[in-house]
Amino acid sequence: MHAMVLRKPRTALEWTEFADRQPGPGEIRIRVGACGVCRTDLHLVDGELPNPKLPIIPGHEIVGRIDAVGAGVDKLHSGQRVGIPWLGYTDGVCPYCRSNRENLCDHPLFTGYTRDGGYATAAIADARYAFPLGEEGDDASLAPLLCAGLIGWRSLVIAGEGTNLGLYGFGAAAHIVAQVARWQNRSVFAFTRTGDVKTQAFARSLGVAWAGGSDDMPPEPLDAAIIYAPVGPLVPAALKAVRKGGRVVCAGIHMSDIPRFPYELLWEERQVVSVANLTRQDGLDFLGLVPKFGITTKITHYPLTQANEALGDLRAGRFEGAAVLLP
Ligand SMILES: [Zn+2]
Ligand SMILES: [Zn+2]
Repeated sequence: MHAMVLRKPRTALEWTEFADRQPGPGEIRIRVGACGVCRTDLHLVDGELPNPKLPIIPGHEIVGRIDAVGAGVDKLHSGQRVGIPWLGYTDGVCPYCRSNRENLCDHPLFTGYTRDGGYATAAIADARYAFPLGEEGDDASLAPLLCAGLIGWRSLVIAGEGTNLGLYGFGAAAHIVAQVARWQNRSVFAFTRTGDVKTQAFARSLGVAWAGGSDDMPPEPLDAAIIYAPVGPLVPAALKAVRKGGRVVCAGIHMSDIPRFPYELLWEERQVVSVANLTRQDGLDFLGLVPKFGITTKITHYPLTQANEALGDLRAGRFEGAAVLLP
């Protein structure tokens, strides 16, 4: 197998050949069909996430077909198409796992961070954390659903059921969540970098009620806002835009420091919360609803060997929607 490997933070990924690995007990091997590029991968490469496994194969939006099955795997079979998400393993026994919050597990493994991921021609996964995907849709268009879609879904649920929803940072996650929220008959307000009229036009093409810069005020107060951009100053900006009792959800794994802000922005029962990881139930809920949502993912394709270019383009905001690597 071949993979793009990060040997140490702040260096380019290197094209590397490995001997094919056999899946161990409870594991499956996947022939990768497509792997999405997530902003978390950039944080990993930039050394902003603590204690990665090194060297590491990044990538946690994997779509592919099982080509080998380890001992004891009975719910999945060779030839089946599956998705491998960020949550790669949990211990099942900590207080969080035992209270249906395995997203907060004390001893987790994360795909493409603390266990090898999908910037590769093949990947090994714990079968219990793989989602059967069926045959509808092509691999590349499904890949972004495995993180941008899933984390987007979890953040949307935590944002609550208010009608006016703000999305700060209109990239891979927001372009999926906007479509789900529209399906739910909500009004979506898209906030981009100041002056990024191209992304604002992209947001409008997906049916949002309003699109503007992140320092603009929306035409109506928001019931909730979700922040996908890793930019701390967006927290007070979003608090300003939500009504009394409104909620601001921070959906990224890493964010620059939040500047100090006056208490009156939080007063009147406004809330700031974060969303961490996903549970397998989130995945089953979301993927089960995907056929109803009618999501169209906007994809920019890159050959696997150009993973560094894909990451660079993500950093620079050079594409709309999501980037996907094809082996
Ligand atoms: Zn991700
Ligand atoms: Zn646990």
